[in-house]
Amino acid sequence: MKTLSQINPYQSTIRKTVYCSGIGLHSGNRINMTLRPASANSGIRFVRNDLGYSSPVPAFMNRVIDTTMATTISEGNASVATTEHLLAAINGLSIDNIIIEVDGPEVPILDGSSAPFVGLLLQAGIRQQKSYRRLVKITREISFRDGDRHISIYPYDGFKVTAEINFKHETIKRQVYSVALSPQKFVAEISKARTFGFLEDVEKLQKNGLALGASLENAVGMDENGVLNKEGLRYDNEFVRHKIVDIIGDMTLLGCPVLGHIVAYKSGHSQHLKLMETIAATPDAWEFVELKKDGQLSVLNKFVSRTRAAGNRFLPILSPVASKRPLSIQ
Ligand SMILES: [Zn+2]
Repeated sequence: MKTLSQINPYQSTIRKTVYCSGIGLHSGNRINMTLRPASANSGIRFVRNDLGYSSPVPAFMNRVIDTTMATTISEGNASVATTEHLLAAINGLSIDNIIIEVDGPEVPILDGSSAPFVGLLLQAGIRQQKSYRRLVKITREISFRDGDRHISIYPYDGFKVTAEINFKHETIKRQVYSVALSPQKFVAEISKARTFGFLEDVEKLQKNGLALGASLENAVGMDENGVLNKEGLRYDNEFVRHKIVDIIGDMTLLGCPVLGHIVAYKSGHSQHLKLMETIAATPDAWEFVELKKDGQLSVLNKFVSRTRAAGNRFLPILSPVASKRPLSIQ
């Protein structure tokens, strides 16, 4: 038995139902969102309440159907885009179980960061549940390389993210940031960092009917002279901090928290997904563990955890063949 006293061993959900509404980045339409408490071991699920009866979309990597501009997941005829900033807030605050209802095909973009979602979740309140948390504990390095982009995860008794970005643009250039996460650090150092884009790219996208909701209200916009937003940047390295928002949000799709240190170089949604798929495909490089009171940690028998007794929320990782969809992306 090892100890991890800094991590809450119990699962959590929110205390009450909360609502918000905002513009969808891609459609430009108004989206209403409701966050509801959920029972222990039920995980994170999206519901499209505009589609009449449709299956919930579990926040799992094997439900990802697109990673080109944001992370989109789907189940049956229901799809939900731009999941990552909301999932980052849920993961950043260590919430395990929640139902997210939206009445359109994407999560509202709000201000382009995780901060408004953090505010909404804190307004709902966080309620500790009786079940212990189960995590993936990395025991040796797992890496994925894609041209000059690469992402790795190393053994670490906690959840730490180090990201590096490198842009030719003078305003960004090379930025590196590293954070050993706790809910407090997530809120203070990471949650407020907004997504960013270059004016010429946004103009091109909008001509093609994409990013219709994009504005300086929900992103840091740049042209060749620098930042276009009157208020300037929220952190002088806001860009790399936003990359960490995306990494934390995407890694939520592993289906449970991870104990490890992620090191990412020029990564995007596609590489984040590939890292999770590589983790799933390398079961000898991690253990499935349960936290106990006083920070003790017990390794769950992998054979037992292949059964329903381990909770359906983790089944797709331990047994990819049992999941409805193959683990692969375009
Ligand atoms: Zn983002």
